[in-house]
Amino acid sequence: MAEHDFTTPYVEQRLPDVPGADYTRTEDDQGVRVVGPCPRCQGRTETVWGHGLAGTGTKAIFRRNRSAPVDPVPEVHYCECGYPHPGMAANAPFTGCGASWEIGAAP
Ligand SMILES: [Zn+2]
Ligand SMILES: [Zn+2]
Repeated sequence: MAEHDFTTPYVEQRLPDVPGADYTRTEDDQGVRVVGPCPRCQGRTETVWGHGLAGTGTKAIFRRNRSAPVDPVPEVHYCECGYPHPGMAANAPFTGCGASWEIGAAP
């Protein structure tokens, strides 16, 4: 895996979809935790999808049982690598490089 590139400038940018195979999904009391690399800065991002969040519509709940079908409902992820990339606004919603992307269904 590539190194986290701290010199990547902050740009709010939508990236192409990323294969779900690059990400791990685990479920705990807080919801579904999705961990994987940011496709832009390569930083490690971790997103927790809370159960039953308001305003999320038809949010997919990833199932732990691998034999169960996973709904291919797209989830938009934002870079939350935790490093304030150069040019990041103080009020940016996420601390990262500003990238957003959808994760495709795991194979
Ligand atoms: Zn990033
Ligand atoms: Zn980063």
